[in-house]
Amino acid sequence: MTQQTILLTGAAGFLGSHLTDLLLAEGHTVIGVDNLSTGNSANLAHLANEPRFHFVEQDICQPFDVGAVDYVFNLASPASPVDYDRLGPETLLVGSTGTVNTLEIAKKYNAGYLHASTSECYGDPEVHPQVETYWGNVNPIGPRSVYDEAKRFSEATVTAYHRYYNVNTHLVRIFNTYGPRLQANDGRVISNFMIQALQGNPLTIYGDGLQTRSFCYVSDLLDGIVRLSRSDEHRPVNIGNPVEFTMIECANEVLAVTGSKSSIVHKPLPQDDPARRRPDITRAQNLLGWEPKIKLRQGLEQSLAYFQSCVNNGATA
Ligand code: NAD
Ligand code: UDP
Repeated sequence: MTQQTILLTGAAGFLGSHLTDLLLAEGHTVIGVDNLSTGNSANLAHLANEPRFHFVEQDICQPFDVGAVDYVFNLASPASPVDYDRLGPETLLVGSTGTVNTLEIAKKYNAGYLHASTSECYGDPEVHPQVETYWGNVNPIGPRSVYDEAKRFSEATVTAYHRYYNVNTHLVRIFNTYGPRLQANDGRVISNFMIQALQGNPLTIYGDGLQTRSFCYVSDLLDGIVRLSRSDEHRPVNIGNPVEFTMIECANEVLAVTGSKSSIVHKPLPQDDPARRRPDITRAQNLLGWEPKIKLRQGLEQSLAYFQSCVNNGATA
């Protein structure tokens, strides 16, 4: 394919830094924008001498312009419950003003646009597994609402820019994704369990541990995102691994992969924590020919060296 100039927001984050690597490997030029609020510039350190990568430290809630681009990937946002609880108003702003600012860039330069939406749009779902046609069950004033409602507003805005201005938009609803560069201290279950297990500390299960999630390895997710960005599909598309685990099962997978003898302790379940989550991926299968390949056990094995290095560098969970 022809080489493009791509604006990628959230480039210093977990998913953004991997997507940057993938796009550079395809020969594109990437302008990575990030305000480093939850990201880590170490995720981009290996690109210091890459002439096709340009980093701009910028809050996307402020107006900005990086010049003509062919495509915009908008990934900037706090993403873990711990981060968006800490950064509530900032999360609402990035999912509203930040989304509008980046859509304006796509509109101005006639660029394609993909927004990183989330399974959290379904809230605590009453339909299982979650199909894209389900409108969700979100508490609009609960502790997770700063994230969920900002992402739902983003979906409405992205869709409006397609409907009213004919911007070539794409919406991916990402389900729980993990892998190397998942921030060690952002409180997500995979990073917490891996670090706790490697340190020999108890694994903290919130609530009874019977709530479920479906975990997608980062390379599978990126394959789905890139396929969607090059498709004609403007409706939301779920990308995630449909194999569902309880948090007790997840803890046992982590113990098996790390060989740890850590015990398990139970801690209070956060308010509005979704009871179960699993993507219906029929739309992605039919429209994109996509499905995940990496099982949880294999993905955790592939992430082990990264989490061990976090522990060696003093990370705690
Ligand atoms: P992350 O926290 O590692 O990365 C997010 C990046 O956005 C960080 O580098 C952060 O500094 C940057 N950022 C935040 N606010 C910004 C702002 N105002 N201006 C510029 N940069 C800003 O999280 P991630 O897991 O890589 O998530 C990336 C995107 O994918 C997010 O939009 C998230 O909502 C979405 N998502 C992720 C998952 C997942 O499981 N990882 C699931 C659903 C959706
Ligand atoms: N969780 C847990 N122990 C932890 C961190 C999280 O049991 O140390 C649970 C959490 O309550 C939720 C699930 O794991 O039910 C996934 O949490 P995470 O923060 O990774 O993602 P999300 O809730 O956004 O799906």
